[in-house]
Amino acid sequence: MSRARKPDWLKSRPPSGRRFTEIKQSLRERDLHTVCEEANCPNMGECWSGEDGPGTATFMLMGDRCSRGCNFCDVETGGMEPLDPDEPENVADAVADIGLDYVVLTSVDRDDLPDQGAGHFAETIRAIKERDPSILVECLIPDFRGEERLVEQIIDAGPDVIAHNVETVQRLQWPVRDRRAGYEQSLSVLGQVDRESDIYTKTSLMLGVGEYAHEIYQTLSDLREVGVDVVTLGQYLQPSRSHLEVSEYVHPDAFDTWRRVAEEELGFAYCASGPMVRSSYRAGELFVEAVLA
Ligand code: SF4
Ligand code: SF4
Repeated sequence: MSRARKPDWLKSRPPSGRRFTEIKQSLRERDLHTVCEEANCPNMGECWSGEDGPGTATFMLMGDRCSRGCNFCDVETGGMEPLDPDEPENVADAVADIGLDYVVLTSVDRDDLPDQGAGHFAETIRAIKERDPSILVECLIPDFRGEERLVEQIIDAGPDVIAHNVETVQRLQWPVRDRRAGYEQSLSVLGQVDRESDIYTKTSLMLGVGEYAHEIYQTLSDLREVGVDVVTLGQYLQPSRSHLEVSEYVHPDAFDTWRRVAEEELGFAYCASGPMVRSSYRAGELFVEAVLA
């Protein structure tokens, strides 16, 4: 099979400017990692500057090595390191220093730890909120292998949004995600948050991994069924030749159509949908516009 060529709509400008440099410096001083930089995310300029609203950055907690190995993800697997006990305070300091109004926290999966990192995640949320309760915190959490008591720890820490990514349609879960992940397990985590709290729930799907339109529709319906409020849809990009191949570059018009279906037909509070959209794409601006306005 020949490889699909990357279309022009996927090209982006490299980030620059004063705000970008300030944020980068503050992160380096505290030895913190962002997904934005690690994944060389094409949206960095837009998200970090927050020109039309709150700036957003995504902090990656608990190291840069994951206990799982998903076929689409560039994070290294195995060789897990102990947690840095100062990380929650360091992240909170950086958020205050940079002046972010909306923070996304995510992490690698830590199946190696007795609580899979839930306590550390919760501590970081609390540290940010203690400094300034008005900072909006979104956390993109692992599935915690479906252990409800661990998801509860995150709910109890009081974030504003809890996100967990279902990543793809039911049929493709295992060519795409690590075998310990799964469609029902992810739906159950999102459903638990909806049942047990008033916190907004959010998820993300990558398109272009071989899914059919009726499967996308079914997935969106299943997500609404368990109470998910916000969904993002973006193009899968292959990080290297050893990762899952892109099966299709989905046209921007198709992304627009899915956005309308999600918002107007299925009733999501909002859907960010486009080739360059990532789960935290302009998360602050969109959340404030669509949910808090
Ligand atoms: Fe990457 Fe997350 Fe999968 Fe780990 S669990 S390999 S960080 S997508
Ligand atoms: Fe960072 Fe997410 Fe924005 Fe990319 S989309 S720059 S990862 S906040």
